[in-house]
Amino acid sequence: MANYIDLHTHSTASDGLYPPTELLQRAHEAGVHILALTDHDSTEGLAEAKEAAEHLHVDLIPGIELNSDVGEREIHVLGYFLEYQRPEFQAMLKVLRDARVRRGERMVELLNEQGIHIRWERVRELAQGSVGRPHVAKALMEAGYVSSIGEAFDKYIGKHSPAYVPRYKLTPEDAVHLINSANGLAAMAHPITLPGLDELRGWLPGLRAAGMVGLETYYGQYTEQEVEELHALADEYGLIPTGGTDYHGPGIHPTPLGGRYVPAESIERLRTEAAKRRGTNPPQFKLPAPVEES
Ligand code: AMP
Ligand code: FE
Ligand code: FE
Ligand code: ZN
Repeated sequence: MANYIDLHTHSTASDGLYPPTELLQRAHEAGVHILALTDHDSTEGLAEAKEAAEHLHVDLIPGIELNSDVGEREIHVLGYFLEYQRPEFQAMLKVLRDARVRRGERMVELLNEQGIHIRWERVRELAQGSVGRPHVAKALMEAGYVSSIGEAFDKYIGKHSPAYVPRYKLTPEDAVHLINSANGLAAMAHPITLPGLDELRGWLPGLRAAGMVGLETYYGQYTEQEVEELHALADEYGLIPTGGTDYHGPGIHPTPLGGRYVPAESIERLRTEAAKRRGTNPPQFKLPAPVEES
């Protein structure tokens, strides 16, 4: 039997391979009835996704995935049931996207200075939504400098590579606040991958206090034992165990769309929490001004 819930997916509005309509079609074909679209830093795919979902009778949960940084570490925070059209929320997302544009331009400049000739315009074209390193990697591959995306990261734009430029630093707490400012529900994404089990306990109380309500427990290829461990942590900290595939299209992450069992209880608990917030005045939040990278 197919799994009918998938709460973690990406489209071309960030670094997924399929446009929202196609993603929804594929989800429908795979037997997914409840799908959250969670593009990185972007809600640009949600309007199209919603329309496709209505035709296909798929229940679409408006979501997002915010990447946050703590020193060398990253934590990704998922947001669900966002009232994403709120202007203040969109203004904050624009701050993040604009910072990504400047950072992308800077990476291309660094590459050019190192004799690697790819064009910013091309990177921009490859990124239909928010610009990221995957788009720079594609441009490097197209231009023949590398033969795979992985090689582009290893040689040029990985964390310790010569053309790497860090992102706008959003803290994990601010990622939670930002999601809450659109009445959304925040959940930590793939906790074993980032920040890792060793550090997880250190993060949960603070993020819980900041308003985080979920922990992505049923994730991609996590083993039964890992799921059990995460479930125990979710229970201990009063968090809702969520789950999904992190599907980006073939060849990016290993789990196919709908290829991860997520219990109905996850979505029921999220819905109950979302219903309490819907239409109420959300807590206001303003991002700190971006620090320009030199
Ligand atoms: P960015 O947010 O622009 O820094 O890009 C991060 C994205 O790049 C991640 O979400 C991954 O999808 C992708 N990524 C990171 N490291 C690698 C890698 N070594 N190989 C392929 N893709 C990667
Ligand atoms: Fe991604
Ligand atoms: Fe992620
Ligand atoms: Zn993701």
